[in-house]
Amino acid sequence: MKLIIASNNEHKLKEIRAILGGHFEQIQSLREAGIEHETVEDGTTFAQNAEKKAREIAELTGCCALADDSGICVDALGGAPGIYSARFAGKHGDDEANNALLLEKLKGEKNRGAHYCCAMALVWPDGRILETEGRFYGQIAEKPVGEGGFGYDPLFYLPEYGVTVAQLGTEVKNRISHRYIALAKLLEKLDQMEEKA
Ligand code: IMP
Repeated sequence: MKLIIASNNEHKLKEIRAILGGHFEQIQSLREAGIEHETVEDGTTFAQNAEKKAREIAELTGCCALADDSGICVDALGGAPGIYSARFAGKHGDDEANNALLLEKLKGEKNRGAHYCCAMALVWPDGRILETEGRFYGQIAEKPVGEGGFGYDPLFYLPEYGVTVAQLGTEVKNRISHRYIALAKLLEKLDQMEEKA
């Protein structure tokens, strides 16, 4: 089965490809499929946004489309920035500004609990859909540490590993992350669907 990943985020693409490995005959990014498309993410949940992105690309291409909508939910901020994670500080994808704003908002805050959330949607051109969600729990550090990963990873501290996700290395991240959990559940559902067919 050929799969198009409905994303232009190079970091997500890299992680999704690494996690999926050889599970699909061919995996293409939007760019590789020659598609220039930006979905208006106007859903109120990660799941709604993931479904919208995947449906638009499946309709546009006639291929199976996989979309990831993800973000960070901070306990002391009532779950914010959540679906607005990419544009928390205003400009879409400005990781440095997003991290600085998060630290500013948590100044003096003792409760540093947070989780990443990832909603995955796999949509077939005939409209069928499989949806899953993965969560990855950690704490917001007092300052950014590490060079790896992307987004909020330099601030996302894992007490059980004693490092931030930006220090963890991609191999380990891709075995425990919200993205990994959501994709593992998706592959399980796909297997069950194929067994029934
Ligand atoms: P989306 O492209 O609308 O799904 O936004 C995803 C945003 O959530 C990214 O721009 C990051 O700010 C944040 N995010 C999602 N997953 C991760 C991750 O694995 N590490 C760090 N930040 C992430």
